[in-house]
Amino acid sequence: MTQTVGHFIGGETVLTQGRTQPIYNPSTGAVSGEVELASAATVEQAIANAAAAYPAWRETPPAKRAQVMFRFKMLLEQHADEICELISREHGKVLHDAKGELQRGIENVEFACGIPQMLKGEHSKNVGPNIDSWSEFQALGVVAGITPFNFPAMVPLWMWPAAVMCGNTFVLKPSERDPSSVLRIAELAIEAGLPKGVLNVVNGDKEAVDTLLQSEVVQAVSFVGSTPIAHYISSEAAANGKRCQALGGAKNHSVLMPDTDLDNAVNAMMGAAYGSCGERCMALSVAVTVGDEIADRLVAALKEKIAGLKVGSGLDNSNDMGPLITAQSRDRVKGYIDAGVEQGAELVVDGRDISVPGHEDGYFVGATLFDRVTEEMSIYTDEIFGPVLVVVRVDSLQDAIDLINRHEYGNGTCIFTRDGEAARYFCDQIQVGMVGVNVPLPVPVSYHSFGGWKRSLFGDLSAYGPDAIRFYTRRKTITQRWPSSGVREGVVYSFPS
Ligand code: NAD
Repeated sequence: MTQTVGHFIGGETVLTQGRTQPIYNPSTGAVSGEVELASAATVEQAIANAAAAYPAWRETPPAKRAQVMFRFKMLLEQHADEICELISREHGKVLHDAKGELQRGIENVEFACGIPQMLKGEHSKNVGPNIDSWSEFQALGVVAGITPFNFPAMVPLWMWPAAVMCGNTFVLKPSERDPSSVLRIAELAIEAGLPKGVLNVVNGDKEAVDTLLQSEVVQAVSFVGSTPIAHYISSEAAANGKRCQALGGAKNHSVLMPDTDLDNAVNAMMGAAYGSCGERCMALSVAVTVGDEIADRLVAALKEKIAGLKVGSGLDNSNDMGPLITAQSRDRVKGYIDAGVEQGAELVVDGRDISVPGHEDGYFVGATLFDRVTEEMSIYTDEIFGPVLVVVRVDSLQDAIDLINRHEYGNGTCIFTRDGEAARYFCDQIQVGMVGVNVPLPVPVSYHSFGGWKRSLFGDLSAYGPDAIRFYTRRKTITQRWPSSGVREGVVYSFPS
């Protein structure tokens, strides 16, 4: 008897006996349960609950909302081990990595606790005789979030805590591939005192997403996932008159200058390329080497490190890297490795034939390294979303910058160097949203905002941080006069100045 994961609507777990799909344990390949895929009617029910909760929540003083967030943060910390185990069982990432994910999510809750400070408006006295003017930032109403499988706890926490702290109510559609941690987190939010209906979670696929996009009640949509779906969400949201931010995929380049501190850079790149089995939108999947000397040393050092990488079950904390999310992902990644060989890249380390004792049916692919990769190869152009690092050799920093700027994605990048002038020039010229200097995963902290350029983000505002306040509120500007008693005013037909 497998367990069925349902929805969380109006503060209650809801099972509808509708369509389902299996949930797998990627470390073993076994089916661990099934998840319901919401029908349009179930999504409408969630939207109706969010709409019903909105008027009272909108009127709740921000400081009272913040008290809920403070309690919620404590509960997340108290239940961290339980949540990380749920993540690891369904996603496959190693427990220590799940812990890092949850901690970055908690940072977003901490930021949300301080949102009353950021909801303060702008005020001008005497914009005219006895006239004052101010702008305030009002909630939108019901807003929706649609999230990917690779950070099942963190990415939802980028969205709904900030949205509800701004006075909105929320319908979340997480990834159907690893749905359990987010449902447990929603229960903890209710335990913290979030009124029922303020946060609703529906599991599902395209039917659920399209219902959210077409709803006249939903005012705004935050999306994180792959670029083709981000583009679809952004177009549909615009066609339906909704505000939208849609974060997409990535191909993140690192640049290694000839003066790089190679030991540190190699350690940084191992974690950034192979951590979470490469299933991170900020994973460093391309190393651009400036000059052959650093390229030869880098490839030799990576090859040696990869030999010591420990691959296995996500639940064994001594492992460095777990499996991919599904059998399809594993086969897709292996297909890219095949293509790289066919297209003439030099395969330095081949992860295709890995076998993990005791976990022979898990979705494992070993760390893979290609050298002498060129710009037209699919292992360079496409987001592989697996443990595959490709080395592209160039002759100058300018060549490296031009290469990166020609790529369709612009999420993250990093330069490794000891040369401040080179680093400064790189930061200025590179067309990428998040840039590291000797920092391999420059994921902004919660009080900055997260967003790429080019086809890595559709929309004007990034996720979390200050941009979230602008995204989840609407500006209203009020101009007010209280005429002094006895003052009579004539008719004015010219434009007020
Ligand atoms: P995905 O695009 O397949 O799915 C994301 C969400 O969209 C899920 O909730 C899914 O149910 C829904 N969805 C899938 N197909 C749909 C369709 N046809 N119509 C409507 N909705 C649909 O992405 P994924 O595989 O879950 O996640 C991996 C991708 O997410 C990678 O491309 C990665 O780079 C990207 N990602 C980006 C960021 C970022 O911040 N830019 C962060 C994390 C992940």
